[in-house]
Amino acid sequence: MAKRSIIVVGGGITGLMTALHLQRSGERVRLIDRWEPGHHRASSSDWNRVIRAISGADEFYTRWARESRSCWLELQAEIAWTLMYECGALILATQGRCDWEDATPATFDRVGVPWHRLDREEIEARFPQFRVPDIAYAIYEPEAGMLMAYRCVLAALTLFRRFGGEVERGHVRTDPDERAMLDGKPLEADLLVIATGPWMERMFPRTIRPISSVVGINVLYTSTPDGSEAFDHTRMPCWIDHGQGSFGLPSAEGSGIKAAVVIPDRIDLDHDERLVRQETLWRTRSYIRHRLPDLVGERVVDSKFNQIILTPDTHFILDWHPEHENMLLAGGCSGHLFKHAPVFGQYAAGVGLRRFAPPARFKIAGRRKLGPKESPSGR
Ligand SMILES: Cc1cc2nc3c(=O)[nH]c(=O)nc-3n(C[C@H](O)[C@H](O)[C@H](O)COP(=O)(O)OP(=O)(O)OC[C@H]3O[C@@H](n4cnc5c(N)ncnc54)[C@H](O)[C@@H]3O)c2cc1C
Repeated sequence: MAKRSIIVVGGGITGLMTALHLQRSGERVRLIDRWEPGHHRASSSDWNRVIRAISGADEFYTRWARESRSCWLELQAEIAWTLMYECGALILATQGRCDWEDATPATFDRVGVPWHRLDREEIEARFPQFRVPDIAYAIYEPEAGMLMAYRCVLAALTLFRRFGGEVERGHVRTDPDERAMLDGKPLEADLLVIATGPWMERMFPRTIRPISSVVGINVLYTSTPDGSEAFDHTRMPCWIDHGQGSFGLPSAEGSGIKAAVVIPDRIDLDHDERLVRQETLWRTRSYIRHRLPDLVGERVVDSKFNQIILTPDTHFILDWHPEHENMLLAGGCSGHLFKHAPVFGQYAAGVGLRRFAPPARFKIAGRRKLGPKESPSGR
C-alpha cells in the first residue's frame, strides 16, 4: 500500500517529536524548517528546561509529565547521550499565596508522584543555597529535574533522521485563506502538521492569533562561586518561586545558574536581536540578593532572550484547522511544552493519523482565561 505523504513544518521540540513518532510508526515524513533545527531563535533553544510533574490540581498534565519523564529516560538510553539530570525540583510556596502548591499533594498522591513537604527550617537545612524568610513551606519533587534542551532537540533530530526522516530548509507561508504555501505553491500532503511554535500566531491570523499572544522572556546565567560545588545539579534542585515571579536551574556542564525572573516583554520574532534587557540584570541581581545570597557578586556568564506563545488557559493547541481538513495545528506552548514534548508528539501523531480525536482542552474553540486555582501553571 502506498504510504501517506506527511509533512511536518517546524523543527523545534514539538515538530521534531511529532515527526519522530510518525516516522517510527512506519510513515514517511518530510520535516521543513526556516532555519537549521537547534537554531537560537526557536523557543526550544537554550541550555536547559525544567521537567517537573507539579501542575496544581491538574491531573492531566501531572500524568503527562510523569509519562514524559519515562519517555525522556528511554530516549536517553536509546541515543546514549545525557538528556536529563534528575536533580529534583523545589516548589517554594509563598505565605498567603499558595493555592497552587496547596492543591498539589492530593494530585500527586492520586497519580503516584513521590514528594516531600519541607518547612522553612528544613528547606534551609537541606538546601542551604536558599534563604526563605517569606516562604510558608516547600514541596520537593525528587524525581523532577533538568532536561538539556539543546541536546534534546538534537537527539530528536538525530533519531528522526536515523529512522529515515527527511529534513529540508524552507519558509512556509500562508495565503489569505490560511493555506500553507512553499515557494509560492500550495504545500500538498495527506497530512500537514504545523508546529511552528510562536510563529503560528502570525501564520494564522484568523485561527490562532485570537487565542494567543507571543511573549519575550529574558534569562541570565550566573557564575558559580569559585571552588564551590554548592550550586551544581548534584547539590541543588531546580526551583519554582511563583511569589517572586521566578524559577531557576542549578549549574550543569558549566552552564552557570539560571535564575530566571519572568519579565514579559514584546518581541518581533524575525527582526529583534536576541539580546537581554538591562532591566533583567537589575531584577535578577535583586532576586539573587533576596533568595540566593551566596551568589551575590557572581557575574553573568550567559544570557538568553527568546519567547513563548501563550494561550488564555495555558493549555496547548492540538486541533485540525477549521477550514483545511488535512492541516493539524500543534503547539501553543504556554511556557511548559518542552518537558511534555515526547508525549505531546506521540499524541499529535495519533491525532494526525486519525487514531483518536484531540482532547477537549487542546481544541482551538472555547478558550477562556483561568484563575490561579484552575490554571495548571498556577499563574
Ligand atoms: C525562557 C523559557 C523557559 C522555558 N522553560 C520551560 C521549562 O522549564 N519547562 C518546559 O517544559 N518548558 C519551558 N519552556 C517552554 C518550551 O521551551 C516551549 O514550550 C517549547 O520549546 C516550544 O517548542 P516548539 O517546537 O513548539 O516551538 P519552537 O522551538 O519555537 O519551534 C518552532 C520551529 O518552527 C520553525 N518555523 C517557524 N515558522 C516557520 C515557517 N513559517 N516555516 C518553516 N519553519 C518555521 C522555527 O524555525 C522553529 O524551529 C520555556 C520557554 C522559554 C522561552
